[in-house]
Formats: sequence, C-alpha cells, structure tokens
Amino acid sequence: MAIIRRRKSAAVNVGGVIVGGAHPIVVQSMTNADTADPASAVRQTAALARAGSELVRITVNTEEAAAAVPAIVDGLEAQGLNVPIIGDFHYNGHLLLTKYPECARRLAKYRINPGNVNIGKKHDDNFRTMIRVAMDYGKPVRIGVNWGSLDQALLTRMMDENARASQPLEAEEVMHLAIVESAVRSAEAAEEYGLPHDAIILSAKVSTPQSLIDVYRALAQRCDYPLHLGLTEAGMGSKGIVASTAAMSILLQEGIGDTIRVSLTPAPNGDRTEEVVVAQQILQSLGIRSFTPQVSACPGCGRTTSTFFQKMADQIQTYLREQMPLWKENYPGVEELRVAVMGCVVNGPGESKHAHIGISLPGTFEEPKAPVYADGRLLLTLKGDSIVPEFIRILNDYVESHYGAKVVANR
Ligand code: SF4
Repeated sequence: MAIIRRRKSAAVNVGGVIVGGAHPIVVQSMTNADTADPASAVRQTAALARAGSELVRITVNTEEAAAAVPAIVDGLEAQGLNVPIIGDFHYNGHLLLTKYPECARRLAKYRINPGNVNIGKKHDDNFRTMIRVAMDYGKPVRIGVNWGSLDQALLTRMMDENARASQPLEAEEVMHLAIVESAVRSAEAAEEYGLPHDAIILSAKVSTPQSLIDVYRALAQRCDYPLHLGLTEAGMGSKGIVASTAAMSILLQEGIGDTIRVSLTPAPNGDRTEEVVVAQQILQSLGIRSFTPQVSACPGCGRTTSTFFQKMADQIQTYLREQMPLWKENYPGVEELRVAVMGCVVNGPGESKHAHIGISLPGTFEEPKAPVYADGRLLLTLKGDSIVPEFIRILNDYVESHYGAKVVANR
C-alpha cells in the first residue's frame, strides 16, 4: 500500500461505516432508480452494494419517495444487505423528514444542500429543522454544496465585496471561495444548533478537475470535517472516468478526501455499478485500498493478430470480479492478488513472473503453447482449445493454496 499522509479529520459514523479519521476511504454511489418504486430502488441499491459500494445514496424528493424509504431498507435487509442508505434532499427535506418519521429513522445520513434549503436568507428555519431531525434521530449529515445550486445571496455578497477590493480576484476565484464559505458556514451553523462536530461531513462539488482541486485544497485548510470527494456532472464514458480520476487522484495523493463518489452518466440502459468499479479502481491504482485482484494485460500489437488474448484478459478480469463477494469471505487478502495475461513471448514471461500468477499466450508464428508462471516460476504449459478454463482452474487452486483457511491459520 502507498504511504500517503491523510489530512486529519473527525470520524463520522454513518450507519456503522466510519468516514474520516484514520479509517479507510469509503466508496459510495447513488441510485438513479425511482425511490417511490421500492422494488426498483432495492434492485439497484442491492446491485451497487454487491459491487462494493459501502454507502448508497437515494433521492428523497417527494412524499411517495419518503414513504418508500422503510420498504427499501427492509427489502435490502431481507437480502442480507445492511448497506447504510443516505437520503438526498433538496428544497423540501425539512417537510419530508418531519412528516415521515420512519424515513428519518431508517436513513443513515441526510444530505443537505445549503444552496436550496433557505440558509443564507434571513430565516434559515428549514435548515435548522433538518438539523433538529438529525439530532433527534442521532444521524449525521452531509452538507453538500454544489456550484450549480450555490447560495446566490452569499455569492452576490462576496462578488460585491470583491468588486470593492483594491485588488479584486477573478470571478471564478470568488466563486470557489463562496463554495467553500457556504460549506463551512453551514457546518458552523449546524453546530450552533447543537449537531455534534463529529456528525458532519462536507462536500463542495464542481464540474471541472482544476476547480475541484482548488476548492478542496481550500476546504481542507479551513476545517477538519471529513470530506466527501467527487466531481459533479463528470459526464459519460471515458470523459467522465478520466476527469474524475484526474481530479481525485491529485487530491487523494495530498491526503484530501475521506469518501469518494464517481458521478458518471451511464449510457442508456448502462450499468450503474460502473461508478463503483471506477471508484474502487482509482483507490486501488493509487495503492490506497485493495478491492479486487488486478489483471495486468499488455495492449497487444502486430504480434497478436487474433483477439483471443483480449477476450481472455476480459474473461479473467470479469471472473475475478464476480468471485470477489465469495472470495472476500473465504480468502482474506485475495484482493492483493496480481494476475498477468500477456500476448506473446516478448514481455509475457517477464510480466508473468512479476505477477503472482500469469500466463503468456502464443503470438503470431510462435509455437502454440502458453506457459503459466506462479510466484515467479514456470508452473506448467497449456495447449489446445481449453486454455481459458484450465487457467481459471489453476487460478482457483492458487487462491485456495495461498489464501485459504489453512494458510491464513498458519500465518
Ligand atoms: S507482450 Fe507481445 S503482444 Fe503484448 S504488446 Fe508486447 S510485444 Fe505485443
């Protein structure tokens, strides 16, 4: 694991998952299913939890959605899933949380957006109401500022003050400062109303990597609340993945961030769990946390004219990820396993020897055989049409012999 000095922060208990302090950085996600339809919300939340999301946020925007929360939590518990559920509130959270006490009780945390809950205006009764409900039920909150819904009264005031300054800042800089100010002031107000210091998580999301880095560096300096990190509206596909990774990697490397969410726009009918896989991969690539065995595969080149090795790398990676829910229970430490699937003899044996277990497939014009290496030594050579199932069998044996109960007992 990489040695990264984490910024010191309070530790917040979110339904049994601790965010902040010296605790591992938590992966979270959000559904896009209709909360008012408990069956569909349970289905998607369960998929996110099984993919490894340690917290799942759901929209609570209507009375029907608030009324459905207990059924969603029950539905998950019936499947043995105790993932903490966070309610995402905008505009009417004060009404829903007071009118639906079971919703307030069953949620593990409330997300409050200070830009649309009335704070910043003269009367911040709605914000105060939500904080009071959180205190009544012993729940933490995330004060989540988003530049798309920034407290306009605060922004206008800060812009006016800046205009009068002898050396005014750029408008974008003032906006960044206003985002930070909104988050910190709201948290301080929540504490004034009686919410404990260690029941508050902050986020301040913007949609470009450079702005995210600037805002979170400033936020990290201003407070010791745990920080929820994420680029908002990151976008689709490679754009969303790269933008989120670029921004978060820099901050995580500086020790900033206690829980992360990757806000990808899924393709139509796409898999929502992709955001969980990407979040885990960011942390694992940086050596911060391990979640699943990693497959090293070469990119292929003119020496591999068939797609066999690409398909094999994909099959092995999918197989490993699918095994993890079970393997996690039975084979402690298996998430550190490194597997190599290489296309030819040029780098294949070398890379395979550096992995825990690796296979080097035959390139074009090479003899049709695939040497398998385990712990740096040639184990055997595979031939024929059943290379993939045979390699998977060898992989299973390796996992059993290196991470199984007997081995762990002897460690
Ligand atoms: S290992 Fe072989 S197939 Fe893979 S990129 Fe290198 S030369 Fe090409």
